[in-house]
Amino acid sequence: MVIDVNEIPKEGLHIDQDFDFVSLDLVEEDAVFLEPTHAMVDVRKIGADVQVKGRITARLSFICSRCLRPFEYSVDSSFDLVYLPEELDEIKEELEEEDLDKFFYYHQQLNLRDIILEQLNLSFPLRPLCSEDCEGICPVCGEIIQEGQCSCEVKESDPRLEKLKIFLRDKS
Ligand SMILES: [Zn+2]
Ligand SMILES: [Zn+2]
Repeated sequence: MVIDVNEIPKEGLHIDQDFDFVSLDLVEEDAVFLEPTHAMVDVRKIGADVQVKGRITARLSFICSRCLRPFEYSVDSSFDLVYLPEELDEIKEELEEEDLDKFFYYHQQLNLRDIILEQLNLSFPLRPLCSEDCEGICPVCGEIIQEGQCSCEVKESDPRLEKLKIFLRDKS
């Protein structure tokens, strides 16, 4: 969905719709959409700048990075961005370092679909976890520890005991 900046009315644009992305669009390649991404966005012109403010919601299935099981993940993320016209891009080198995170639009166009996708990707956790206290997979038998499916004794080892063990092992 491409917005022509010149066509943005004085009162701004209000967009309230679903966006269909595919897993390949995502930084989290294992993720599967359970519901399309929904975006409510207000696009407003402030002089030559364009303010893009909104909220995205989505429901996905992620793979837990510890236990490798799929789990449901809900996105509810708000954003408030300002896009500057491309002309300013040419003087980017002269801008202060703190200005480098500014966004630009080119050829009087804003690709809203790309903006939504970027914000969606930014809302993802760095390491998806089914729960904060997911204990992952038993290193002995490979079963998921959380469900108590295995009876292996995985004790929190005492570093002093570990040293002793290594000492005894090396002796024998
Ligand atoms: Zn997990
Ligand atoms: Zn086990």
